[in-house]
Amino acid sequence: MMAQYLDLKAQYQNALLFYRMGDFYELFFEDAVAAAEALDIALTKRGKHLGEDIAMCGVPVHSAEGYLLTLIRKGFRVAVCEQMEDPAEAKKRGSKSVVKRDVVRLVTPGTLTEESLLEARRHNFLTAFAKIRESSALAWVDISTGAFHVMPLAGPRLSPELARLAPSELIVADGDEATIRDIAEEHGISITPLGRSAFDSAGAEKRLCSLFDVNTLESFGQFERAEVAAMGAIVEYLEITQKGKLPLLQKPVRENEARVMQIDAATRRNLEMTQSLTGGRAGSLLSCIDRTVTAGGGRLLERRISSPSRVLNVVQDRLDCVDFMVQNARFSQDLRETLRKVPDLDRALSRLGLDRGGPRDLAAIRNGLAQSAEVARMLAGQDLPTPLQEVSSALTGHDELLDLLDEALIAEPPLLARDGGFIADGYDAELDEARKLRDEGRSVIAGMQADYAKLTGIQSLKVKHNNVLGYFVEVTATHAEKMLSEPLNETFKHRQTTANQVRFTTVPLSEMETRILNAGGRALEIEKRLYDTLKRAILDRSAEVSQAARSLAEFDLAAGLADLARAENWCRPKVDDSRALDIEAGRHPVVETALRSQNRAPFIANDCSLGDNSDIWLLTGPNMAGKSTFLRQNALVAVLAQMGSYVPATRAHIGLVSQLFSRVGASDDLARGRSTFMVEMVETAAILNQADDKALVILDEIGRGTATYDGLSIAWATLEHLHETNRCRALFATHYHELTRLSDRLDRVDNATVAVKEHDGDVIFMHEVRRGAADRSYGVQVAKLAGLPAAVVERARVVLDALEKGEREGGTKRAALIDDLPLFSASPQPAPQPVSKNSAVEARLKEIHPDHLSPKEALDLLYELKDLS
Ligand code: ADP
Repeated sequence: MMAQYLDLKAQYQNALLFYRMGDFYELFFEDAVAAAEALDIALTKRGKHLGEDIAMCGVPVHSAEGYLLTLIRKGFRVAVCEQMEDPAEAKKRGSKSVVKRDVVRLVTPGTLTEESLLEARRHNFLTAFAKIRESSALAWVDISTGAFHVMPLAGPRLSPELARLAPSELIVADGDEATIRDIAEEHGISITPLGRSAFDSAGAEKRLCSLFDVNTLESFGQFERAEVAAMGAIVEYLEITQKGKLPLLQKPVRENEARVMQIDAATRRNLEMTQSLTGGRAGSLLSCIDRTVTAGGGRLLERRISSPSRVLNVVQDRLDCVDFMVQNARFSQDLRETLRKVPDLDRALSRLGLDRGGPRDLAAIRNGLAQSAEVARMLAGQDLPTPLQEVSSALTGHDELLDLLDEALIAEPPLLARDGGFIADGYDAELDEARKLRDEGRSVIAGMQADYAKLTGIQSLKVKHNNVLGYFVEVTATHAEKMLSEPLNETFKHRQTTANQVRFTTVPLSEMETRILNAGGRALEIEKRLYDTLKRAILDRSAEVSQAARSLAEFDLAAGLADLARAENWCRPKVDDSRALDIEAGRHPVVETALRSQNRAPFIANDCSLGDNSDIWLLTGPNMAGKSTFLRQNALVAVLAQMGSYVPATRAHIGLVSQLFSRVGASDDLARGRSTFMVEMVETAAILNQADDKALVILDEIGRGTATYDGLSIAWATLEHLHETNRCRALFATHYHELTRLSDRLDRVDNATVAVKEHDGDVIFMHEVRRGAADRSYGVQVAKLAGLPAAVVERARVVLDALEKGEREGGTKRAALIDDLPLFSASPQPAPQPVSKNSAVEARLKEIHPDHLSPKEALDLLYELKDLS
């Protein structure tokens, strides 16, 4: 057995080998040590190899999925090795014979299909990167839905595309890993090197042609060699990991980067499009707007939000669909109720395709198609917009398959085909017959208990069943003697004595048992055969089922976006080829929701009007005034509009945005070992080098990561470059007031500011964006709000006054001014008087600004006040 193990292990050096032994997957040697630690399970020993103990651990087969998930999440790959024959077969060959085993699947992050291992609402992409001389390409597939795509990559496009797709695994040619490693790590992608031969474009073309049964790949479009190589590598890798069982791949679709809004990784992060800065989905734009009710609809939304379109009629078509649902509110709500019952058709289909499915997947297809027909019935008589009209035809035409599944399956079948019991009664005469025999046998046995009780005169006699004895007669120990003596001992053969019971078998009981077993086995066999027939029937129509799934997702998405638009009072944006970014009463959907859920003051809506003669807004205002929020909300409105959604505003006019850039000054990026300022400059350089005149750029406090004059100069030059060279639309937030003077010199730059009020030396944030420049920065007041000691705030005021006075009077050097100021005295306040406890509480209360407290801070404060009293 060890020889067999070592032989298999040698073929899967980079994976943990799950070696099937009966009801367990066992792991040995280093695999066992690594897995025991990762899974926190016991490490034991079994036998010796070359004189050393063999480390071992194991997981039960029935709960293996959970362990697999943990291992994959921790970055392991797992080769699953099964017994390929019944152990009885092996015994027949001789007592020393080892059961035949083989690896049936290599589980990697990009090749999962199990419901429990996947997030229902997220795609799980496997990607391959190929480079042939100067050209490179990226191909990707979601094997759990079969979607297969490829695109050529011009220049440094790998990182942004990976940011868009967020794949779990990236295949690269042996030797290329080193150059890709940094990018893969940045995006948290597991990297898999594959032999160069897998990337050979001639071989790849052959592989693809035979897979899709075509003579030439040109049937699917014109592909560059690098694209063919990347697709070929994916197919090769799937063959390796799935051991020849290929998933139901759809025909490759070539993506064209000119058709989608280009958004790089940093921008996606800053805008928290699909993930919040803390990493999860919660708090992202995606989670805030997701009202879809099906997994397929959820995944479509993720795709749309990750790739807003740049093609006007695509955007208009999508908006028309949402519009229809908004206008027909009642219908759209009813539709959503029906859609709620739609299971994950795509993933059920893919599991069946890979032969990893079960009766529940058959039922999922049946239920999905039934709901699909129901949706089609609801649509009758509706005046659908063309795009919905077009996809709706895929909802029908499945009656034959649906009838078959309906007749054949019970309502709620079990997970595994192995145990049977999923085919409905009356569907197959042979199966009914076998089941009848099996069940009759069981009732005959139940009858035998009464007969034997009568025969022996023991009323408490029972007929029972266990796996060791099969059916047996059981009496309490008090009757043992009677049973063991004549004449009863002729009928009842003694088998076992336990502490309180004695057990016997009889010939008729054993015969009956054999009959039941035979009939049961026969029923199981028939069910398995029927399972295969049903699976085949589904797979024969996999393309149509997948179309229906796609169609349901479209309806779900349109209805979900409409529900959101109605509930949140969003409007349909006007989208065209202009240069407008004209938004009336815009809001930040995520901040607005957060304020509401915390019961804080409502979000203040703000206008933005770029376009005409104003390309750039220079936004000044104190920290905490709402500058970043305003910048981001306008970018998000553009993203939402171009993905085909209504937007959080009362009116919006968006000229198609080609590229979106968003940067925040000096964000910490210590993890990547670059100074924060360096990161800021690298990112700013990327924008200045790439942004075209249709781009939208959002710069938040660029230049703040360095000394004042350096920072001011860099911000200044950046603004000029955007205005003169990039000629793009931009929102530029800064605390350098000096920059506001630029608006006089640059004709397409306007000043705007976020208003604050001053009251008794404190600032009150109005969150209102107005034309004009901020008068000052209120830094000292904000510092006071933040709880800087009163003495420090007072001192800062004095210094600030002196500096401002000096500047007004002109000429005086800052350094000289500071020399003139009297030295900071540590105790500017009068010596503290003894205060009564009550006034300590009062004093503390005076300092409090209830509007600026979070619920947690408020609670902490209550404790603090309690301590003071
Ligand atoms: P800045 O970038 O000017 O420092 P932020 O945009 O980070 O300020 O905003 C600070 C806080 O003010 C936000 O967390 C939010 O709670 C609140 N805020 C911002 N904009 C608004 C608004 N328009 N309406 C209500 N509250 C807002």
